[in-house]
Amino acid sequence: MSLYRALPSVDACLKALETLFPAVPHAVLAAHVRRGLDDLRSGIREGRITSADELALPAVVSRIGSAVDEAEKPKLRRVINGAGVVVHTNLGRSVLAREAQEAVRVAAEGYCNLEFDLATGERGHRMDLVEGLLCDITGAEAALVVNNNAAAVLLMLDTLCKGGEVVISRGQLVEVGGSFRIPDVMARSGATLREVGATNRTHLADYEEALNESTRALLWVHPSNYRIIGFHSSVPARELSDFAHSKGLPMLEDLGSGSLIDLSPWGLHDEPTVPEVVRSGVDVVTFSGDKVLGGPQAGIIVGKKEYISRMKRNQLLRALRCDKLTLAALEATLRLYRDRDVALSSIPTLRRLTMSAGELRLRAEALRDALLPALGTEGSPLAALSLKEGFSRVGGGSFPEQGMATTLVCIRPLACSAVELRERLLAADIPVAGRLEDEYFMLDPRTIEDAVFETIAAMLASALG
Ligand SMILES: *Cc1c(COP(=O)(O)O)cnc(C)c1O
Repeated sequence: MSLYRALPSVDACLKALETLFPAVPHAVLAAHVRRGLDDLRSGIREGRITSADELALPAVVSRIGSAVDEAEKPKLRRVINGAGVVVHTNLGRSVLAREAQEAVRVAAEGYCNLEFDLATGERGHRMDLVEGLLCDITGAEAALVVNNNAAAVLLMLDTLCKGGEVVISRGQLVEVGGSFRIPDVMARSGATLREVGATNRTHLADYEEALNESTRALLWVHPSNYRIIGFHSSVPARELSDFAHSKGLPMLEDLGSGSLIDLSPWGLHDEPTVPEVVRSGVDVVTFSGDKVLGGPQAGIIVGKKEYISRMKRNQLLRALRCDKLTLAALEATLRLYRDRDVALSSIPTLRRLTMSAGELRLRAEALRDALLPALGTEGSPLAALSLKEGFSRVGGGSFPEQGMATTLVCIRPLACSAVELRERLLAADIPVAGRLEDEYFMLDPRTIEDAVFETIAAMLASALG
């Protein structure tokens, strides 16, 4: 009973917290106090709290204050990506180019001509903002942008195949991350899936046999995050689209990542670029804006005008359209693509994908040197640092087979385990994500800007300390 009586009053706690957190609304602080005192009461009841010291006003205020501190941090926060996965879906995929960041700021700061034609003073279309750029860059006749690539596939199938059948190779019935399954999206669109071939082999004759009066289109899906290795074959895209056209059907392609630039000089083979796919005669191509393209989350649809026009008139588009911030970032990113060298140097995703092994080695050395002071005194260091050759990954389901050579900075903590170090770095003021391998916590300089080397050193020092 006496312990309960030692609890400070709500008013006393509130008064102290209001001085500590002048910017936090009164009602929010009051809720924290109620919750904090409730916790303490159950602590007493369950025998976890046995001494009145824990119930003194300063102790209680400091305890509730930590909870306020934690709750006041934004939920969505900056994270340093040391994992070496360039298009890391869980870490927000692509980092925007400066130009795109600036465009987002301008669009956020004031009104804009999102759906307003400045030449006539009348209503305009948000669809017109990036269509011209997309056509110039990809060589397509028409283009449309929606919320993401899953939405693009849904809109494409709903518009062109609803109530009919769409033919797809069994080897391409893929699930990409986040439980996006092609068969499920198709079912939502009201198109029926007609699977042909075996998982590892599909021939033109398989497609031919599947055609009937309900067939609306042929669909090619890029096998995003997996590869069938060994005994397999598929019909080349060009041959398949010629075949579709000979039957009077459109050829559709979900390209997934959608490179606008050929990255094979950097060892990233295996994925055709969007302009190549358009040239091969495919009628409609969909791809993501935030994978290898390096822009904001968006689903981009390019292709023949007759099909894109039908999609523009589909009522579903209203539910799938993207907002002004996305369009601002996408337009600014696409403008950079008008000059290949500008795109490669100023779009962070492309810059990271094309960084040379030599540059990465030098940057790993610089990162290691920046981290040295975080290890504590020379005589009794808190961790050991070393460098190791390794591989980065593209991520986002792109180029799944291809690791890109890099140099990793390996941290072996001496006073705690690597697992504990990882936990502490994720709980840091600016969380640092990395890779665990045996007793090492590793950072890949490919996905870390030079400007944050010092920040990582500060986070590491407090994590080790
Ligand atoms: C990533 C991917 C998608 C989904 O794209 P989101 O932009 O994430 O919606 C669909 N299809 C393929 C082949 C993909 O690689």
